[in-house]
Amino acid sequence: MILITGASSGIGEACALLLAEKKIPLILIARRSDRLSLTHKKCQELGSKVYSFNLDVTKTADIISWAQKNCDLLSKCEVLINNAGLAVGLKTFDQVESHEWDQMIDVNIKGVMLFSSLLLPHFIKKDSGHIINLGSVAGHHVYPRGNVYCATKHAVHAFSQSLRADLLGKNIRVSEISPGMVETEFSEVRLQDKDKAKKVYQGLKPLSAHDVAEVIAWCLDRPKHVNIEEIILYPTMQASPTLIHRL
Ligand code: NAP
Repeated sequence: MILITGASSGIGEACALLLAEKKIPLILIARRSDRLSLTHKKCQELGSKVYSFNLDVTKTADIISWAQKNCDLLSKCEVLINNAGLAVGLKTFDQVESHEWDQMIDVNIKGVMLFSSLLLPHFIKKDSGHIINLGSVAGHHVYPRGNVYCATKHAVHAFSQSLRADLLGKNIRVSEISPGMVETEFSEVRLQDKDKAKKVYQGLKPLSAHDVAEVIAWCLDRPKHVNIEEIILYPTMQASPTLIHRL
């Protein structure tokens, strides 16, 4: 069984669909109930047993009480895909409002830590498990107006490395997947403007959510003694967050 946070769109949804094709049971989490039920339905139609929950990963107390109520279900989980994440705005730091950095830090860092802390006791008990964290090339490079988002993804990178060190000897794998530009709802959420979001991908062929899901599925499929530390993947037309070839 695999738990995916942020399964209502983009990379999380693509992972759910790809894993459902393999008939893997899934636990899907996101806030938007209409979108989550759509993913749920599609995965069921592909033949997978699905449990979905409308949860906000920033609501720590709610998540902890949900995890207590669903302890039996979580104990069956072998993989956690910490995918829920977002960028809020693209502004110089002097213009960023505190509620905006709070949201990015709460989802991208604290959400990843919270779900890791909830699943790890089960993984440790079973002496088996795999955590996949969605990092980003923004976890390796910074770019103008990326400030808080870049800081959160650098944190995901450091946390993934540190987890691997802490878990040494416990037979638990930790992998980080760090994509460049993926065309999802990410830019729409970030810019709050559909037309501006479209322009982000104009003149190049970005990665698709499915491209990233395939890489994640490949990491999961490696034999249990093989831990892929990190995969950084770019569209061929991108060489760094700021080096982009557009036609
Ligand atoms: P997306 O299409 O906007 O999907 C983001 C997902 O996160 C949605 O399912 C959203 O669901 C969920 N989410 C956001 N806040 C949440 C919260 N508080 N509680 C629960 N779920 C929440 O974007 P995406 O590109 O697939 O992003 C997935 C991950 O990839 C993120 O961690 C992102 O930082 C990373 N990434 C993306 C790119 C890119 O270019 N797209 C590049 C590198 C890394 P709800 O809104 O329904 O809650």
